[in-house]
Amino acid sequence: MRTIHSIGELRAALRPARRHGSTVGFVPTMGALHDGHRALIEQADDESDVVVVSVFVNPTQFGDASDLQAYPRDLAADAAAAAQAGAHLLFAPAVQDIYPDGFASTIRVDGPLTETLEGAHRGRSHFDGVTTVVGKLLNIVQPDAAYFGQKDAQQALVVRRMVRDLDLPVRIAVCPTVRAADGLALSSRNVHLSPADRERAVALSAGLRAAADALAAGERDAGALLAAAGGPLAAAAVTPEYLALVDPDTLTPVDSVTGETLLALAACVGDTRLIDNIVLIPIPDAAATR
Ligand code: AMP
Repeated sequence: MRTIHSIGELRAALRPARRHGSTVGFVPTMGALHDGHRALIEQADDESDVVVVSVFVNPTQFGDASDLQAYPRDLAADAAAAAQAGAHLLFAPAVQDIYPDGFASTIRVDGPLTETLEGAHRGRSHFDGVTTVVGKLLNIVQPDAAYFGQKDAQQALVVRRMVRDLDLPVRIAVCPTVRAADGLALSSRNVHLSPADRERAVALSAGLRAAADALAAGERDAGALLAAAGGPLAAAAVTPEYLALVDPDTLTPVDSVTGETLLALAACVGDTRLIDNIVLIPIPDAAATR
């Protein structure tokens, strides 16, 4: 695996592969790679001839300067993890390469997809930052497929919308959330949790699971399912920023679960902001999730 820092060098490295008709799979990340990223890279490797992983902590999607400052970075460890998972090229540009002096363009997806949930709590600039950098990275890499995690379900929806709206010639694949044995969704931010907060953080996935269990027991009412999800959170003294049952395609709130429904939540545990979600699927006598 080669680590490349410049846009020109990356394009040059991909040219021979393209000439030979090889397919390119792309996994954009902010680094601090964990097994969730690994699953994306492995799926890209299964489905593509050449796998490119990017590591770029994108300043424009952070509202909070201290959050950006504290974001974990370790390029040497990321290179080892990406290579082991099957990446061929690691693209790690500098901020100045992505946002050179005079940079003045934004890709913006308007409407409820970016205004609700994360958009409402992190501000509209968050998704502007995401779509602008992902749009740029897709233009730089020009992959056949790009891989995103269900962990950031809203981000995947917004990226899909952008790709459709702008006719970008790429397939967007969304991979299941990878969790620790106790249920906590893997996240680069988990390293910031103190041991006590790491234990409390299990309340997020436990809350989602409690709602899935209530659904499996026959409950369909959104208020009752949200109350079930809130139980483990309250027990761990974790106050959600949002806890919402929404249509998984439009993110519109639902009153009752009659089809696939996204249960999404964000909460701070200590100083660390975490998000998680599951898709509730009402099947008689069982609630399947992904
Ligand atoms: P990040 O580095 O956090 O920006 O994430 C890069 C990509 O990895 C995004 O598409 C995330 O949704 C995905 N990802 C992060 N955590 C997980 C996880 N636990 N399981 C699956 N995908 C994940």
